[in-house]
Amino acid sequence: MPPIAAPATTARVALWEGASGVSVSSAPVPRLAPGEVLVEVRLATVCGCVRDAVRERRLGSLPTVLGHEGVGTVAAVGRGAEAVGVDGVSLAPGMRVVWGRDVGCGQCTACAAHAYDDCPEPRELGHQPMQHDWILSGSLGTHLVLPRGAHLAGVPSGVPDAVASPAGCALAVAAAAVDRAGALAGRRVVVLGAGLVGLGALAMAVEAGAASTTVVEPRAKRRRRALSFGADAALDCDTRVPGCDVIIDAAGGADTFARVLDSLAPGGTAVVAGTRSQVPDASVDLERLSRDGLSLLGLGRPDGRHLAQAVAFLAATHAMRPWADIVSQPRGLDGVVEAVAHSGGKIARVAIAPRA
Ligand SMILES: [Zn+2]
Ligand SMILES: [Zn+2]
Repeated sequence: MPPIAAPATTARVALWEGASGVSVSSAPVPRLAPGEVLVEVRLATVCGCVRDAVRERRLGSLPTVLGHEGVGTVAAVGRGAEAVGVDGVSLAPGMRVVWGRDVGCGQCTACAAHAYDDCPEPRELGHQPMQHDWILSGSLGTHLVLPRGAHLAGVPSGVPDAVASPAGCALAVAAAAVDRAGALAGRRVVVLGAGLVGLGALAMAVEAGAASTTVVEPRAKRRRRALSFGADAALDCDTRVPGCDVIIDAAGGADTFARVLDSLAPGGTAVVAGTRSQVPDASVDLERLSRDGLSLLGLGRPDGRHLAQAVAFLAATHAMRPWADIVSQPRGLDGVVEAVAHSGGKIARVAIAPRA
């Protein structure tokens, strides 16, 4: 029998403390409630939500363990209840998993009935006050606790950590946006923004058999990236967009969205999947919306089904696109301060290996 490692009693986490900034701190690994899952984080990626929240000081409840995206290994499951992944598989120590960013509140009637996706006030990873009963609540740490109501998915063995890590935020959002847009086969699709959500939506549209895919993106470097992910065309925001049937707005900006909406053909659908950092106002011609039967849809929250779709999509197609090239070489947790400040530059994601 191999020796059994003693369970860790202390975690190291990236803590956002408001005015004093981001620091790396210690936190106790708690005793697990029934069905809770303790994960040892192998790799975390710094999504735009983390960067925006810190830059804009948007988190209200401090201090907060940061981080949405990550991939890790199940270290323990709280005794007394089974923990089941979104694919229906029972979770057990040693399994490699990813997790979704939204978790049921654990208090409401929906959560009491285990219908966590119906919870009206879900909690979000990386947004919880640390003194709350859920301390290890962000991906940017050596350990993470996922309460009942969290979405976890097993990661197939061929998918590298750097590819799997963004599944829980960016790729699940992309899957939700594509889901919301309806069938894409034979339709002309325009994606606004070539961050990771936009690239995910683009790749999913290509695989779904879209008649054409166009990405609208202000930065030339990102336009080239969109082409390497299979876009038929990548246009600057000022360029006129050809007629289209579906628009997926992945943080394209309000002005661009309003302008591209003019290109939407009668009966077309626009899904707004941008992050909260978008300029929130865009003027919409309501008369045309009505006359041409356009559908203007918000995204809502990605749920467990979208996480499962994201993982299945990456497992089936990741080798066809340069996903790993747009994630940095991992740095240790002590590099997180700089990572939060500099993410969003040359590469799509800064990676952190918290246990390195
Ligand atoms: Zn995120
Ligand atoms: Zn709830």
